[in-house]
Amino acid sequence: MAETQSPVSDEARGLVRAGQAAMRVGDYEAARTAFERAAALEPNNQEARDGLREAQRRLQQAQRPAAEEQVEYCYRHPNVETALHCTACGRPICARCSTPAAVGQLCPECRRGRRPINYQVAPLDLIKGALVGLVVATLVTALVGFIGAFLGLFLFLLIFAIGPAAAEIIVRSVEWATGNKRGRPIQITVGTAMVLGGVLAYLFAPVNPLAVLLFLLVGVSTAVARLR
Ligand SMILES: [Zn+2]
Ligand SMILES: [Zn+2]
Repeated sequence: MAETQSPVSDEARGLVRAGQAAMRVGDYEAARTAFERAAALEPNNQEARDGLREAQRRLQQAQRPAAEEQVEYCYRHPNVETALHCTACGRPICARCSTPAAVGQLCPECRRGRRPINYQVAPLDLIKGALVGLVVATLVTALVGFIGAFLGLFLFLLIFAIGPAAAEIIVRSVEWATGNKRGRPIQITVGTAMVLGGVLAYLFAPVNPLAVLLFLLVGVSTAVARLR
């Protein structure tokens, strides 16, 4: 009862042997090719299937350290490893520098570039905003402080009614001067101008200092909120 071998299974057995030999010398690519061809000839050949699985596993193992070597560092923090990239410019960025965008994340530079024009503030905008803000804030604060000198206790009621409206006048004047710029630098500029205006009003106008102080509290917070 000699077992008759078809040419196909002979070829498959030869391929399995070649694959096993390649495995022994560590040529997993060649081993995988041989096992694949053997499995194609004989889909039920267990040796071919086992060999193929093992060759694929070894190949994956060999690839993994290579992937780990491609460590990248945030372009703004050269010591921080990261796997994130800016969607717009492709540079690696760390989690701290990234801002979620519609697709992926943006680095701070690209985010700034995509900001609405209102938030792109030039130094000249700050100078114009500071000058106009200071002049108007001084006049408005002097007026509020002057009225406050006659109001006595009504001052406290009125300051919260007048304060936001008076601050709005200052905000509008700065918007006019800067062309509706806003954002953090404008907020700081206007807040500083208002405080300086309060000091000038206190020094040079017949004001109620308490009215000036209260107006600054209400007015600066109103203006900062408006220019966000
Ligand atoms: Zn970018
Ligand atoms: Zn970073």
